[in-house]
Parts: sequence; structure tokens; C-alpha cells
Amino acid sequence: MSDTKWVYSFGDGSAEGSANMKNLLGGKGANLAEMCRLGLPVPPGLTITTEVCSAFYDNDRNYPDGLDSQLNDALEAISKAVGSDFGNPENPLLVSVRSGARASMPGMMDTVLNLGMNDETVTGLAKRAGDERFAWDSYRRFIQMYSDVVLGVSHDNFEEILDDYKMQQGHYVDTDLTAEDWQHIVTVYKQRVNEVYGDDFPQDVMEQLWGAVGAVFGSWRNARAETYRRLNNIPESWGTAVNVQAMVFGNLGPTSATGVAFTRNPSTGENALYGEFLVNAQGEDVVAGIRTPQNLTKIAREEALSDMPSMEEVMPEVFGQLVDVNLKLENHYRDMQDIEFTVQDGKLWMLQTRAGKRTTAAALKIAVDMVAEGLITKDEAVLRIDPMSLDQLLHPMLDPDAQFDIIATGLPASPGAASGAVVFSADEAEKAKADGRKVILVRMETSPEDIHGMHAAEGILTSRGGMTSHAAVVARGMGRPCVSGAGSVRIDYDKQDFQVAGVTVKAGETITLDGSTGRVMAGEVPTRQPELSGDFAKLIAWADEIRRMRVRTNAETPADAATAVKFGAEGIGLCRTEHMFFDANRIMAVREMILAENPDDRANPLERILPMQRDDFTELFTIMSGMPVTIRLLDPPLHEFLPQHEEDVLQVAEAIGMTQDKLKRRIRELEEVNPMLGHRGCRMGLTYPEIYEMQARAIFEAAINVAKTTGSTVVPEVMIPLVADHSELKELADRIEKIAQDVMQEKSAELDYLIGTMIELPRAALRAGDIAKTAKFFSFGTNDLTQTTFGISRDDAASFMEPYLSRGLFEYDPFVSLDQDGVGELVQLAAERGRSARKDLKLGICGEHGGDPASIAFCEKTGLDYVSCSPYRVPIARLAAAQSYLKIRK
Ligand code: ADP
Ligand code: MG
Ligand code: MG
Repeated sequence: MSDTKWVYSFGDGSAEGSANMKNLLGGKGANLAEMCRLGLPVPPGLTITTEVCSAFYDNDRNYPDGLDSQLNDALEAISKAVGSDFGNPENPLLVSVRSGARASMPGMMDTVLNLGMNDETVTGLAKRAGDERFAWDSYRRFIQMYSDVVLGVSHDNFEEILDDYKMQQGHYVDTDLTAEDWQHIVTVYKQRVNEVYGDDFPQDVMEQLWGAVGAVFGSWRNARAETYRRLNNIPESWGTAVNVQAMVFGNLGPTSATGVAFTRNPSTGENALYGEFLVNAQGEDVVAGIRTPQNLTKIAREEALSDMPSMEEVMPEVFGQLVDVNLKLENHYRDMQDIEFTVQDGKLWMLQTRAGKRTTAAALKIAVDMVAEGLITKDEAVLRIDPMSLDQLLHPMLDPDAQFDIIATGLPASPGAASGAVVFSADEAEKAKADGRKVILVRMETSPEDIHGMHAAEGILTSRGGMTSHAAVVARGMGRPCVSGAGSVRIDYDKQDFQVAGVTVKAGETITLDGSTGRVMAGEVPTRQPELSGDFAKLIAWADEIRRMRVRTNAETPADAATAVKFGAEGIGLCRTEHMFFDANRIMAVREMILAENPDDRANPLERILPMQRDDFTELFTIMSGMPVTIRLLDPPLHEFLPQHEEDVLQVAEAIGMTQDKLKRRIRELEEVNPMLGHRGCRMGLTYPEIYEMQARAIFEAAINVAKTTGSTVVPEVMIPLVADHSELKELADRIEKIAQDVMQEKSAELDYLIGTMIELPRAALRAGDIAKTAKFFSFGTNDLTQTTFGISRDDAASFMEPYLSRGLFEYDPFVSLDQDGVGELVQLAAERGRSARKDLKLGICGEHGGDPASIAFCEKTGLDYVSCSPYRVPIARLAAAQSYLKIRK
């Protein structure tokens, strides 16, 4: 153990570490070492490795053997390089102590500057710098920072003392204070430390150093850091490194400064130096907001209409060096850098570099520009964009310049912004839409009966329900902005208004929702439409050249299908026909069909529904112009279509000529204890064969019609839901094939079609070999497959999913990201068994997981042919599919 290297030195154009040692040296330390190797001006320093942090915790908070002497040696090297000595009263070395984990991590200890100052070294520093004021100012800064960070004596103590003193002396700003003033402040600061901390401020510089090092390691386990790690899946075992670095001073007068810079604009991506600096200041001043920082470039200053000169203007020479260094760093790292620097007496010093955080728009522009500049390849550009971050660009957004009043906040259930007049029922929403009016549907909660209204509305606001409530799930699927669970909104359906925070909003009044943030605003707030253009379109086109898997969409309405095609969908992977049944114009016929007690009574309403379904499919096939379309036959339990409220029962009874009593009895007959596992899917198809036959006929007739009128080949894929056994599929497939024959004969036309099934029950996955004898394709219905594999009802999971996640029982919600170990094993097994029974079996996925990047990578690994997701996820899936291909197959 004792010959383990715990400390790595850097400085003077060389370093023991390098950029690829982030795990051992942390991000900051590894990049400081790399900058030294590049020959950039970096104050010399040392990095104590992350392994020391781990050893420290493994060993009851004791340091490993050998650290002490290695630290002393490295400190000696720094002293030599700088030409001063740690603790030497004549010529003192001062250092900063900086934490640095692998990934930058808020919650870690703040940096301590000017360490090494005490009652003696302060005079040495004053003499060396020829500046008493600077020395005492540095000392008081050090006492303040060290006490706050290491001794637990909070900043307020010192601010209070300073404010009182300034008031007493009639000083307004810190720059009014003289050397004597600061010297006096130091005395009072030290007294306060003694009172609060219970001991003197440490004068021994080694004690100061070990104190700061211990504070960094201690902060690895503080509450803020632990929370951050948990939320970001950073293992505790990683540990943090500590950097000790010779100080350079930005506070030595008008030729000194400190600043931060981005090599490109982090909000637009524009290839122009961007950043701020402060003359005569130390690091923390830039962020502390005590003084307003100045722009780096003249152009930026002019754009900001600032009368404070830019760095380019006041220090043209150093500015030139900074520009060169930036260029060098960008070319070396081949990515936009976020850097920190200090200028001491006209000399530039680099203190940090890392890949800069950026907006999605900037990330796209930078990636595309860097390919054009020859800095990175297209593959690299594609890998650089986080697919989920594209979501920001795929929905209408509030105009960033808009002013607005927030009247309520709820959960950000479905992203995007929308405005419209308030309506309180789905029917009104639909009526308004037909009249060309834009509305926001406001409900306490929504149910399947509201789907047509949700579709007609621009956005949905509910006062109850969480992120997985009906409103939230359906809205996300449709790409409608939704704010759910806005508890302060009090809806009164009778009065047709809602009250919130003392305001009453009546039906017809306009409100705006921002489903990305959960805000509800009064009036109409201007929004911006999303589009797939420019850099976004270019990068996605590169992704398309790379990926193997196809990307389809889950869509049933013409509008959704058209949106998906606009976003690049290559077919429909799931068309849920039940959504077509809820349409206000046909729900009565659907109800009559369901309520019929025998096939004869069912015949008439089915005949009325047939042409409507045929029109639906005709429209879909036309929009999809020859691309594959998978249509799932009716899936949900029938009673979902029946009236639930007394007044609806009355209305339905009248409309279909049935007594209310009989209707109620029939509704009760259809009710089930556990409808999810009840009389639904193919079970219903088998007991009411007329329904599936009608649907099959509508599909085939539409396909032949569209082929005739548009000339494009339509190959519909008919999908039978909830199959558990081959026999179920076989009987239904036979019936559907018979219908296909009939239709072809009637129309004297040929038609290609496929019959296949959803794999959404564990038994179906296990028996996939059998099922593939009949099925020409499988679509993994991973929503239901997750429900049935876990035995967890998705609609009831809300009450325990959150505690499961926060306590770490589940690493993630398996309804959001596929459980690759369990559900995934079933998928893999079904894919294998299915393919060995039928070599050209088409495989796809159509659950919510089809739009989740981690699940998409799993699909690539499993060799599926396509993923299918909601229209607004299509670009995300295209990018994620390309990234998976690059990571898994290249
Ligand atoms: P953070 O991780 O919060 O950015 P840093 O360790 O980078 O903390 O320190 C913050 C600032 O302190 C730096 O940007 C720099 O301005 C200043 N600083 C750190 N070390 C030194 C040093 N050796 N000399 C001068 N300034 C320093
Ligand atoms: Mg920093
Ligand atoms: Mg299902």
C-alpha cells in the first residue's frame, strides 16, 4: 500500500497526470495537468487522488500511509517552481485548495483561496507585492473563506462586521478601505472566529492545509452532495480529488483581473468568444455579484450597450493571448470549453477548463459547425447530443421575451405551451374546435370518455392527478401540453368557472399553459412553433445515415400521423383503433353494438361503423403513402365505452331505444372486477367475432381503395392484441384471412397484408415459437408486458412507485425505461424463439419504451427491426437509434 502514488504534481510545462485520468484525478485535476502538458500557463500545483478519498472513508476517516510525505514533496516542488516557501514569513507561498470530482458536482466544498496567510506571512506578502492594502485584503478574505468552509463559522458573521465597520467609518464600497482598515477588520474577524468556533484561527500553515483537505473529503458525504449523487446516479465509491495550487493574484491593481470564458456562445452556439471578467478582483468576486463583471469582447460590450470597457479594449495584449489559448484548447479537446483564468500584472494564467454546458440549440449548432470545420466526424457529432434534450425543441414554447402573470402551478405533465379559451367538457372542446376556436380543456381529472375533447383542445389542465394520471399519459401520447394536479385550481362545473388565488376564470376566458414547467398563465402568451430545420435537421439526417433500426410512430388520428411524418416517422407501429371509437359522431353506434345481446342486433350498428372505420384507414394509408401501418384490432374491455353518469345513461337509452333499466342491467353485466385481466383484446375478438371482422374488412377495403387511387402499395399489418396462446391467434387469423379473400374477390383486386400479434403477456413470450407459426410479425407491447411481468397495474402504481424509487428499491420506473433484466429477458427470448420458427419474422416495439433512449439501445442489442413511439418522440428515437448502433455495432 505504501508505494501507492497518492499525489500527482503539475506545473512548468509538464505534469504527472493527464486528461484521460479523470477517474483518479477528478475533472479539474486531470484538465489542469493536461493544460500543463499543452504548455499553457498554469500555476503549479498538486492533485491528491480520489483513491485517497476512498481510503479515507474505508479507514475510519484516517489518511493512508505515505500521503503525508508525498504531499510534502509535491509542495516542495511547487515552492521551487514559484520561488517562495509555504509558511515563510519573508517570502510566503500561498495556495488555493480546490475540490474536484470526476463529474462537476454542486454540493462539494467551496474553494479556499490565499491559504498560507497568517499574522507573519501577511507582512512578507505586503513587502513582496509592495502593497500593504493588497496583503491585508487577501488575509481577511482568507479568514472569511476558511472559517466559513472549514471551521463552520458562516459568512454572515464577517459580512455583518464589515458592514458595521463601513457604516461607522462612512465608507460605501470595499475599495474605499485602506490597509489600516483591513488590518483592523482582520483583528475583529479573528475575535469573532474565537467566539463562534471556540478556538483561535489557525496560524500554522500545515494545520490550515490539512484542515482544508479534510473539509474537501468531508464534503463528499455532506447532505447536499449525497442528494446530488443519488439524483444523478453517481456512485459514492467514486470519491473526490483535492487540488492544491499556487495562488496567482487578480487583485494586484489595474493590470490584474479574473474571469470566465466560453470558447463559443453557450446559449446560441455561435463561434465567438463569450464571457466576463473583473479588473482587480479575485475568483469569487465574479460570481458573488458584488461588482458587475465586464464583457470580454468589444462586440459583446456594444451589443450589451455597456459603457464598461471590454477586456479586448483595456488589456488588448492579454486578450490576444486568451484568444490563442481558447483556440488551442478547443482544437485539442475538440469541444467547446468553459474556462477560468486570472491575469496577474499583465500575465495570463489558466485555472480551469472543461467541456462547457450548453443549450440544446447551441449543442446542435456546435456539433454541426465542428463537422464543417473538420474538428469532429459526423459519428462524433451524432454521439454528442443527448437525445432527450431534443424534447425542448419539439414542442411549442413560450416566447422567451413574453411577459405574463402566473395564476397557478401544477405538474409539468406533458411539454409544450398553448393558449385557448377555457372549456369544462370534452364535448364543448370538440364543438369549439369544429367552429375553429382554440380551447383549453379544464377538468378535475380526465377519463377515456374525454379523449375526443383532449384531442380537440390545445392543452389540458387538471386539478387532480399526478404525472401518470390518465390526463398526463394521454396528453403526452398526443403531444398536447398538459398541466396536471394543479391543486389550487377550484373547478365549479355548474357555475362554469374556476377559482384560483382569489381570481375567478370563467368559461370562454383565455388562459395559457406551459406543460414543460407546469405554469398556468392568465390571457394569451405568445408561443413559438417547433420545427425540424437547420442544424437540427442536418444532425438528424446524419443519424438516419447511421442507424439500422427503423422508427415508426404510435398514431391513430390523421393529425398525429401527419405530425409524425413531418418528424420523420417511417410508418405506424401502433394504431389503436379504440381511440377511433370514442369519436362523438360514432360513440352511439359503438354503444348500440356493445349493448346488443346477440349477433343479429349487433349487425346493424356494425354496418354503420364500417364505413367510418374505412374512412379512418383510408385517410391514414393516404398520409402514410406506402409506409407500413400496423393496426391493432379493438383492445380494451367493452364497458369502457359505456355511459357512466346518470344523465348519459338516460340519453343513451333514448337514442338506442332501450329502457333505462335494461341498459343499466346490461352495463352491470359487462362490468368486471379486474378489467385489465378480463374480457378484452383477442378474448373479445373471439367471443364477438363480428367486431374484428368488421375492422378487418374496413382495413382491407381501405387498403385496396388507396392503392387504386394513389398508386402506392399499401401493405396493412393487422395486429391481434393480448394473445396468450397460439390457438387464439390461429382462429382469429383464419377468420381475418377469410375476410381478406372476400374483399379481394368483391373488389377484384390483389392485396398483400400481414397478420401478427402483440407480445404483451409473459406466456406469449414463452410460447413465441408456436405463435410465430401463424404470426408474421411481433410487436412488443411493453406497457402491458411490464404490467403483467411485474404484476403491477400501471394505473395504480403511483402510490408506491415514488417511495420505491426514492428508497432505491427500483433504480428507475419500469414503465418509463424498460426493465432490461426481467421484461427484457422475455423480449429477448420471444425474439429468439419467434425468429427460429419464422426467419423473416418482423420485430418491433410499441410501448412507451419505444421513445426512451436506454430502451432503444436495448432494442438495438436485441436486433429488433423497428421502434415505435409517439409522434413527438420520433426525432429523439431517430437519434437514439443511431447512437445505439454506433455504440453497439461499430
Ligand atoms: P469551482 O469548482 O466552484 O469553479 P474553483 O476551484 O474553480 O471552484 O475555484 C473558483 C475560482 O477561484 C476560480 O475560478 C479562480 O478564479 C479562483 N482560484 C482558484 N484557484 C486559484 C489560484 N490558484 N489562483 C488564483 N485564483 C484561483
Ligand atoms: Mg471553477
Ligand atoms: Mg396492451
